[in-house]
Amino acid sequence: MQFVIPAPAIPSLPIVGSDARFPIRRVYCVGRNYAAHAREMGGDPTREPPFFFSKPADALQVVPAGETVDHPYPPRTQNYHFEIEMVAALHRGGRDIPVEQALDHVFGYAVGLDMTRRDLQDDAKALRRPWELAKGADLSGPVGPLHPAAAIGHPGKGRIALAVDGAVKQQADLADMIWSVAEQVAYLSQYFELQPGDVIFSGTPEGVGAVQRGQTMVGSIEGLGEISVRVV
Ligand code: MN
Repeated sequence: MQFVIPAPAIPSLPIVGSDARFPIRRVYCVGRNYAAHAREMGGDPTREPPFFFSKPADALQVVPAGETVDHPYPPRTQNYHFEIEMVAALHRGGRDIPVEQALDHVFGYAVGLDMTRRDLQDDAKALRRPWELAKGADLSGPVGPLHPAAAIGHPGKGRIALAVDGAVKQQADLADMIWSVAEQVAYLSQYFELQPGDVIFSGTPEGVGAVQRGQTMVGSIEGLGEISVRVV
């Protein structure tokens, strides 16, 4: 195959305990998946169907274990927010996947941040416009190494937290999710044919807030370690 320009690199994530990497196809994100966060965003936390948006696959920023990576503050925002989220990576695809089989499609899990230009998101909501400018900024998805489910299982509970310069801003339990990862996979597969390489940001708990240049965010999930990201 000959391309007229250099082919873009395939985004990928490191895997704990392996030299192989996990290639990324699509990045799906679920909105308002913790009741207290739905309320802080002005929503109704009752169990209405989940909703999804996407980030560009190349918006992922790899955060190696044990390192602090520099994360550029994006242009055109005055209100850049952190959202700590568990990320699930699929190694098997399909349509209309039953909830009971959904976790068989998950290769592993990682700690991620769904960084958001909140001011642009508020504008988009008010004007009934799409969220791309708010959610799809370059490098707006810092993600740590994938922990294979074969090694750690499928986390259904455990502390999920984010601290900024050592001060805890978000703290909840994975069990507080309104829609489980299995339910997210099953639901998404009714709308898209999921494919190996798809990843899902599974939503953020309450406590989202703005971050400034010079601050360091540390996101952690019980069993998945932590990621450290300095805004520059
Ligand atoms: Mn989010």
